[in-house]
Amino acid sequence: MIRQKVQEEINDQIQAEFQSGWLYLQFSAWFEERNLDGFANWMKMQWQEEQNHGLKFYDHLLRRGGQVELQAIEKPTVSAESISEVFEKVLEHERYITKRIHSLYDLAKEEDDYPLQTLLHWFIDEQVEEEENAEAILEQLKMIGEDGSSLYLLDQELGQRGGQEQ
Ligand code: MG
Repeated sequence: MIRQKVQEEINDQIQAEFQSGWLYLQFSAWFEERNLDGFANWMKMQWQEEQNHGLKFYDHLLRRGGQVELQAIEKPTVSAESISEVFEKVLEHERYITKRIHSLYDLAKEEDDYPLQTLLHWFIDEQVEEEENAEAILEQLKMIGEDGSSLYLLDQELGQRGGQEQ
């Protein structure tokens, strides 16, 4: 059985994961509109990942006899002047999600919710990876600067990202 407070927070986290996905899908369109198909592919893979994240919490809640209450997804704000700015926003967003995951873990400990703690170990690791990936791309973009051919190569590289990740 799952406690009410924990259930509410998991439902909020389902919303946050799908909201993240919406942000990435909008950024995917942003890149596609600028003919940067590799970046667009990377963003679309992120969108799929976020849906999987949302579903992990969704399944967890249902398996434990909880109630899923899906919430509204807001319109994402994705105004950016440069590619670097997009990835600064991605990094900022993932840091926000990391904070949320850590708060949820604090709650799971307070409530002696051991199954949720175990689930969250995966998410804690995943957030390290999410921040690391965004930071790595941001660093590359800073090195590239205005060099079009390097940007072309990075776009090609990001286009290689496949769809089997979680
Ligand atoms: Mg996520």
